[in-house]
Parts: sequence; C-alpha cells; structure tokens
Amino acid sequence: MATILLEVATPDKGEVYKNDINMLITRSICGELGILPKHANLLTELIPHAMRIKEGGGETQLFVSGGFMEVTPEKITILADAAETPDDIDVDRAKDAYKRAEERVTAYKQSKSSEEIDIDRAEAALARAKARLLVKGVHMG
Ligand code: ATP
Repeated sequence: MATILLEVATPDKGEVYKNDINMLITRSICGELGILPKHANLLTELIPHAMRIKEGGGETQLFVSGGFMEVTPEKITILADAAETPDDIDVDRAKDAYKRAEERVTAYKQSKSSEEIDIDRAEAALARAKARLLVKGVHMG
C-alpha cells in the first residue's frame, strides 16, 4: 500500500510523531480533509481536533490543538501549538480546563463577571478541552 510521511512537531516538545502512513483524516479551518499519498500541494490552518491516522491496517488518533499543515505529494508536515497521543492526555487536567473555560463563556454571555473576559480565548480553550476529552471518550455536560 502506498505511503506518505507524516511529521508532527510542537514548539514545546519538538517531534511528537513521525511515520509513513496510508491516510490522514484531519480538520482544517475549511473543513475535513482526507490526505492520501501523492496529494496535491496544500498549506492550511488546523483547528483543535483528534486527527485520525491510518497506517499498516490500523488506525490511531493524535490530538492537535491547532497549527499549520503543509502537504506535498511525499510528505505531510504539521507544526501544531500542542499535540498529544491518547495515552499522553491527562483527563483530569482537560476536565479542569473545560470547567474553567465553560464558566468564562457562561459569565461572558450573561455579562455577570466584572473581570474582562477574552471570549475568543475562552472559546478556544473550551474547544481544546472538548477535543481532548472526546479522544478519551469523556462527554461533558
Ligand atoms: P491547560 O489550561 O490545562 O494548560 P490548555 O488547553 O491551555 O490547557 P495548551 O496551551 O493547549 O493547554 O497546552 C500547553 C501544554 O500542555 C502542551 O505541551 C500540551 O501538550 C500540554 N497539555 C495541555 N493539556 C493537556 C492534557 N489535558 N493532557 C496532557 N497534556 C496537556
């Protein structure tokens, strides 16, 4: 089966994933993308989600918190803000982040909080926490 090299790196951790894969299913700001070997050149921005990596007859997931993806016919390069394998995700930490972000979003909508709330930041944090929990099969609310 044809393969394409996938490399995922983050500023914090450096290389998080490097392997020859059969297919990547990922979500960009323009929607879901399926990347096969020999894909056309592409540069796009990713949103927080769990990527699906098909390799050697199996499938694995890798959470990315957003970032940039460059595709050439031979290689997919992702520079993500953060990335974790399912084993690396700390559920309690993600639940705490979810609750903090949800409280901020609710307070903003109800205009209850006296503190200045950065709604874009709160919604981005909520999206990261939701995607991490989804990978672990945890549903909130
Ligand atoms: P938190 O508020 O808990 O820091 P966050 O979404 O703001 O969550 P990020 O900025 O996305 O965190 O990530 C910062 C670093 O912490 C990255 O290296 C990321 O891989 C790691 N990280 C964040 N949340 C988790 C988690 N739930 N499990 C494991 N690693 C995590």
